[in-house]
Amino acid sequence: MLLAKTDKMPVLFVGHGSPMNLMLDNAFTRDLTALGRNLPRPRAIMVISAHWLTNGSFVSGVKKPRMIYDFYGFSRSLYHLVYECPGAPQYAQAAADLSLAKDKISLDFQWGLDHGAYSVLKHLFPAADIPVFEMSLNYSFNAWVPHCVSRHYELGRRLLKLRRMGVLIIGSGNVVHNLDRIDSDMDAQPYIWADQIDQVIKDKLLKRDDAFLVDFPTRDKKTSSLAAPTLDHYLPMIYALALGEKGETLRFVHESIQNGSISMRSFIIE
Ligand code: ZN
Repeated sequence: MLLAKTDKMPVLFVGHGSPMNLMLDNAFTRDLTALGRNLPRPRAIMVISAHWLTNGSFVSGVKKPRMIYDFYGFSRSLYHLVYECPGAPQYAQAAADLSLAKDKISLDFQWGLDHGAYSVLKHLFPAADIPVFEMSLNYSFNAWVPHCVSRHYELGRRLLKLRRMGVLIIGSGNVVHNLDRIDSDMDAQPYIWADQIDQVIKDKLLKRDDAFLVDFPTRDKKTSSLAAPTLDHYLPMIYALALGEKGETLRFVHESIQNGSISMRSFIIE
């Protein structure tokens, strides 16, 4: 499907952390609000969410995404929160059209918005007036160890043209995300290892050492099993990197560690 060309949209990676951020006013949510005010207005938004894991790659083609409350044991008010944006079936189709037969992206008409999407959109685009669709993480790639991450990276590269169709692509996960070690206090002192790994990732992001970051989960098992015991929250960052082009700048829009073991590191590539 041919959609009109636009100026190139930036690419974002946002660390979403606890769903509690949805209703908090803290350094992280304030940074997202400020970022949203300074972004060019997209025609559509595609969120690659850590919380939509599928066998095969999918984009959501629904006209009106439903709310998915995919978290448990939190404050009741969180389960009443809504983000009533329109869907973006035309743009979801455009994303599917860019995929190749070997790593095909298919349309899905069941999924709506999980908290990986609305927990960041609520702060970035509070008016909820921009069409949104999600892209899943193909977990069958992960049986391909040690090449699984590079396959996600390659699929991300296929989607570059979306940026010139006015689509703002947001990877939503966390570069360090260890739920087994989590502290219930959001402001807890970060674990030393969490801080150290976060700093290594920061350094490699600034150097745009994509090869290191693609290899990291399989090369250094001891470290990566602390930072990313499962790959779901790490992979959206890989897509954001893949969608950056030569000559573009990567800039951090937020840096912190919440709950001791979750890096909220977020960046823009433009
Ligand atoms: Zn999450």
